[in-house]
Amino acid sequence: MKLMLTCEHASNRLPASFKKAVPADVLKTHRAYDIGACSVFRKLVKFAKPEFYCEGKFSRLFVDLNRTLTNKSAFSEYYDALDKATATKAKAQASDYWKEYRAAIENFVESALKSKSKTAKSEPAIVHLGIHSFTPVLNGKVRSTDIGILYDPSRPQERAYANVIKDEIKRLYPAMKVRFNYPYKGTSDGLTTTLRKKIGPRYVGIEIEINQKFFE
Ligand SMILES: [Zn+2]
Repeated sequence: MKLMLTCEHASNRLPASFKKAVPADVLKTHRAYDIGACSVFRKLVKFAKPEFYCEGKFSRLFVDLNRTLTNKSAFSEYYDALDKATATKAKAQASDYWKEYRAAIENFVESALKSKSKTAKSEPAIVHLGIHSFTPVLNGKVRSTDIGILYDPSRPQERAYANVIKDEIKRLYPAMKVRFNYPYKGTSDGLTTTLRKKIGPRYVGIEIEINQKFFE
């Protein structure tokens, strides 16, 4: 089994072509990136030494790496603030950046599937953990969950890995409130959903959603 760690919403940086589209105060908020996710991700990389890892270098307001490119929400409403020619140019650059990010992941996945490892056929070839964070208050509602574990409930191996992760968190931090498929469904449009379709049962894709209150 090979471990892959990713952090799609690590950064709130913008490329020069898109800088004037987003107000500076928005860039500091959870709209622009997953606050705190990058520091957890980098610690995990050091600790777990995955066979492959990558993190987004631009804000999701430029393009959301965790959406299909054909999904309208891949591109934020801030494109509307630009004149048409600038917006078209920025979108093309964003698409290239998105494709490059996804291609690096798919290259690794392909090589992992080909490699002759000692893992039994029943074991997954790739376990992917995507590290994210969520805002503690949304539309005035406080979210009391500390950590969400997102997976596809119809996939037994993902359920098994999700349980192991939950049990380990509870063993280390008994007071931690852990919920499955919260605050989002593991089956929504995203990187894991795409990889499940492409790879099939030899892939296990789990997203870890951490409450941003830990980073305030
Ligand atoms: Zn995220």
